[in-house]
Formats: sequence, structure tokens, C-alpha cells
Amino acid sequence: MTSSITALLPNLNTSHIRHKDIQALFEGLSQSTGVEVIHEGNSFEGRSIKRITYGFGPIKILAWTQMHGDEATATAAVFDLLDALLSNRDSRLSDAQSLFTLNIVPMLNPDGAEYCTRHNAQGIDMNRDAMAKQTPEGNILMRLVDELKPHVAFNLHDQSSYYQCGTNGTPSTIAFLAPAFDVEKSVNESRHLAMALIGAMQKAVNKHIPDCIARYDDTFSPRSFGDRISEKGAATILIESGAARNDPNRQIARKMNVVAMLEAMFILKEQHKHQLDISTLNSLTQSYWDIPQNCSETLSSLVVRNLTFAGEHSYQASISIKQTARYSNAFFIDAVGDLGVQAGLCEFDASKLQYDCGAVCAINAPTVITNESYFHYLKQGVIAFEGELENLDNQSDYPVLVNQPLPTNPHALTLQQAAYFLMRKGNKVVAAVLNGLLIEFNE
Ligand SMILES: [Zn+2]
Repeated sequence: MTSSITALLPNLNTSHIRHKDIQALFEGLSQSTGVEVIHEGNSFEGRSIKRITYGFGPIKILAWTQMHGDEATATAAVFDLLDALLSNRDSRLSDAQSLFTLNIVPMLNPDGAEYCTRHNAQGIDMNRDAMAKQTPEGNILMRLVDELKPHVAFNLHDQSSYYQCGTNGTPSTIAFLAPAFDVEKSVNESRHLAMALIGAMQKAVNKHIPDCIARYDDTFSPRSFGDRISEKGAATILIESGAARNDPNRQIARKMNVVAMLEAMFILKEQHKHQLDISTLNSLTQSYWDIPQNCSETLSSLVVRNLTFAGEHSYQASISIKQTARYSNAFFIDAVGDLGVQAGLCEFDASKLQYDCGAVCAINAPTVITNESYFHYLKQGVIAFEGELENLDNQSDYPVLVNQPLPTNPHALTLQQAAYFLMRKGNKVVAAVLNGLLIEFNE
């Protein structure tokens, strides 16, 4: 079975989602039975912020997404969730409309979404403004919390690609948190429920992406909405969507948000029908604490392991390469040496290879670079080009370094520099790193 929005959902498989991208979905949903789309107010720049309600049951849920404008994964996920419920894809929840009132505010920060920024158009990070309450968007959320009095709140964000699950060597594709509501990190009934729901969600998601789920730091943050809403008595659950290997648009995290929220709804249904005993609830809460911690910055885009650097002080070192920011196209040398627990979304064993900083090729006449000619240059030891930009026409599928300094010492990398270098086996160039992208040449 399909819903009024099923056909539109593949459009959300993009790196970013803006206000205009979701208007047709609101339109589609407003034609579904049991669904209402309500205009709740405008953003600072006047973009409409809408709430979707699904169902008319006693269990009240409020979910919001993209409070940070550049964190769009869950915006796609909440439409997927509504689609799954409307098309009855989870047989455990066929009675969801009579059990739940689900309120969803997709894209709470449409101005930030427009400019792909974390903050809103006032330059305010809404999630550090829950006490001062100076943003129209944040005030809409707080009003909804006070009016709707949700039992459960889903605070849906994206996190850096460089979070690792504990020291598993795996990316933290989904991170959960039951936020604290005081500095002592007390656990009251609603926080206990949030933890139990997360315990259940973790088990469900782990079936799909084993060992890629982490637990977010629970230091009390009074300026954050999650913590404030938790204080108001809602079982508040933060879900952070993160990276997975070979998944640039975070579609895996998108799917896992849906798996997680459907599981939470199922547990809430069981609880509502008194089919969940206290020992099950306690053991789910215990599972929350068993989730490995979210370890910040211990993951990289690429880790090249044990590359040999020749010269007077010959040495072996591993190299970590990162993107300057999630939506930038620039990759840089982040760290060199014994990288300990640092893991890579892409890993390359270079223990039999030698570093080559590469040479610069002067371009004096109009030159077209194709995949074939670029590979030829690289195999000849050329890593960069210099000359008039208009002379160089890059038609290859790969980034090209033009008019940029190479490392000053040919036997060392320079930290923070653009991530371009060659790797040799004997005299032969067998691999290259081009702006963080690893290329291996067939022998
Ligand atoms: Zn965020």
C-alpha cells in the first residue's frame, strides 16, 4: 500500500533539504485522512513553519527536525515515518491512529535550511537559546510543548561525520540521548521511560546496523531545548543522525530514524495496554547504559595506515584526512603519526608503500584533463599543476590541485594542507590521494 506522499519521498535523497523541497509533502499529507497540516507561525524571515498531526489517540508525541538548518536527515525521516504509518507498513501499529496523537514539526529552522547554516537568520543557535527564548522558531516549539503537553518528545538532529561508536572503529550512524534535566543528572519517571525507549530503539536499529549506535554525552545543558523539555516532564529523546560508510546523503541514518521511532511507538503501545512489566522496562533502561559512548572526532574521512616516509630520518606514520566542514568540498591533512584509536570511514593499508609528495607540472598552453590523461600524469609523479587557470580544463571525474603550495619538505606532510599526495611501491606510483579521495591504480 502507498500513501499520498510515497511517490515524493525519493526526492529527499539529497545532501540537503530546503523549505521549498517539502511543500509538496505538506500538500500531499493535507489530503490524507486522519492527518492535519497546521500553520504554526513564521520564521524570522517569514517562511512558514508547519505542524503535522496524525491520529487522535491518548499517547501524545511531539517530534521536530532541523532546528539546526544544516541538519536535514531527520526531515526526510519524519515524512518516511508518516508514510509508513499511513500505508500501514508496520503491522504492530495498525491501530496507531486511535492510540497516538503524533505531532511533527519538520524543519523548525527554515531560514537556516535555506542558507545551510546551523543558526537561524538572526545568527542565533536556537539550541542554546532555550532559556533566553529570543527566536520566533524556538518560541513556536516552546508554545507547542506547553500546549500539547507531549508524553514523549523526539528532538531530531544531525551530528558530525567524525563521531565513532566508543572505540569500535565504526561510525556512529545513530546516537541517542535521554537528556538530563538537572546538573545531578537525576532520573525521574519520564527520563526513565526515555532511557527504556532508547534501549528498545537501540536493539531494533542494531539489527540493521550492528555496532554503529552510540550514546550521546548527557552533561546537563540548560540552554538546550531537549534538556528544558525533559524538565517539563516529557520523556525526551535526542536522535543524532550520523555518517555511515559509502553513504554521503545519510540515507542509512534516515531509515534508522524510522526504525527507531516505530519501535518506540510499539513499546509505548505495549506500555499503554499494560503489557509491559516493570522488569522489562528496567532491563531496557539497563541496555541504554550499555550503549557505547559517542566519541567525538575519533573518526576521519580517510586513514592511510603506516606509510613510509624516506629521507635522512626515515619513518612510518599513519595519516588522518578530514573534510573542513560537512558541506565543504575541501579535505585536509588532519593528523600524522601513531593515530591510536582513530578510525577512517575509508581505511587504506599503506604499510608496503612509500610517500611521494609529487611534482608540479607547468601548464603553458590550453590543456584538457581527462581521466586517462590525469592518471597518466599521476603515474608520472605529477600531483599538481600551475599556470593560467583558463589554460586548464578539468574534464576528469577527479579533483585537481592547481596553483597551491606543495609541502615544503618532500619527506613530510604539512598539517592543514590540502590532502593531495602519491604513494609508491618501489619506483611505481600505485595510489594517490586526491582531495581526500583514495585512488588505486591497477598494476
Ligand atoms: Zn543539531
